[in-house]
Amino acid sequence: MIKTIGVLTSGGDAPGMNAAVRAVTRTAISKGMKVLGIRRGYNGLINGDIIELTERSVSDIIQKGGTCLYTARCHEFRTSEGVDLAVEKCKEIGLEGIVVIGGDGSFRGAADLSAKGILCVGIPGTIDNDISCTEYTIGYDTAMNTALEMVDKLRDTAQSHDRCSVVEVMGRNAGYIAVNAGIACGATEIITQEMPYDLDNIAKKMLETRKSGKQHFIIMVSEGIGNSSEIAHILQEKTGIEARATILGHVQRGGSPTVRDRVIASQMGHYAVELLAQGIGNRVVAMQNNSITDFDIQEALSMKKPFEEDLYNIAREIAF
Ligand code: ADP
Repeated sequence: MIKTIGVLTSGGDAPGMNAAVRAVTRTAISKGMKVLGIRRGYNGLINGDIIELTERSVSDIIQKGGTCLYTARCHEFRTSEGVDLAVEKCKEIGLEGIVVIGGDGSFRGAADLSAKGILCVGIPGTIDNDISCTEYTIGYDTAMNTALEMVDKLRDTAQSHDRCSVVEVMGRNAGYIAVNAGIACGATEIITQEMPYDLDNIAKKMLETRKSGKQHFIIMVSEGIGNSSEIAHILQEKTGIEARATILGHVQRGGSPTVRDRVIASQMGHYAVELLAQGIGNRVVAMQNNSITDFDIQEALSMKKPFEEDLYNIAREIAF
C-alpha cells in the first residue's frame, strides 16, 4: 500500500480546486497515508516547494475560489531533464503517487511522471470544460454562473439605453461557456468557433426583431473568436443600433465555487485517491453519463468531445 501521496494544481486556476485538494487530503489521511501539497504546479516538484497537508490545513478552503496550493506553468517540466529532476525529488522524499488537478497540458506532464514510475492520477480542473474525456470539469459551473450574473447586469444598462451589448466570455478554444451562458441569459445570438456565423445575418435579425418591439440585444461571443470590439463596431455600422463590447475576462475564474463544483470536486478527489490506494496510476478521473469513472491518460488525450450543437440551435430558435 502506498504510504505518501502528493497533490498539485497546475495550469489555469478554477473555482473548486480547493474542494478537490481537501477531498484528496482527507481521503488519503483516512486511509492512513501522508499527504504533501506541492505548490505552484510542477515548479514545486522541481524546486521542493512542498508542504505537509493535514486534516486541519485543508479546513476552511472548500468555499474559496482560486487554489491554496497556488498554480503556475512550468516550462522546465516540459523537458526530459525537468521530468528527471521531479522524479529524483519524488524518490528523495518518498513520494509514490501524485494527484494532478489541471487540464490537458498538466495531464501530459502526469503521463511523463507515470512513465517513470511515479503513479499519477489527473483530475479535470478548468473553467473551460474543454477536456474531451469528461462531460464536466471543475470550475465550469461557477464560471458560467459568474458570466450569467455579469450579463444580467449588462442587460439592465443595454435595456435602459436601447443598446446592443456584445459580451465576450472565456472558454479558450471551446464555446461551452458561450452556449450555456448564452441560452441562460437569453442572448440574441451566440458566436462560437464551432459554428459558422455571418454578421450580415445577425444585423438583419436585429433589425427584424426590432420591428416587433425588441429594443436591446445581447450578442454572446466566445473567447476563441475574440474581436468583440470589432464585432460591436460592425453591427453598429450595419444596424445603426449603438453597440458596446465588454470582455468579461478573469472575473470568470474567481469566486466561491457553486454546489455543483464543490460536490463534483469532492467526488473526483475521493475517486483519485481510491485509484492511488489500489496502486493504479496514469489515469484521468472523468464524468461520463453523470457518473465518475477514469481513463488511461493517453486514451483521454486522444478523445474528441462533441459540441453542444442541439443546445446552440435551441438558443437561436428561441431568441427573437
Ligand atoms: P492546462 O493543464 O490547463 O492545459 P498548460 O497547458 O499550461 O495548462 O499545462 C500546465 C503545465 O503542465 C505546463 O506548464 C507544464 O509544466 C505541464 N505540461 C504541459 N504540456 C506538457 C507536455 N507536453 N509535457 C510535459 N508537461 C507538460
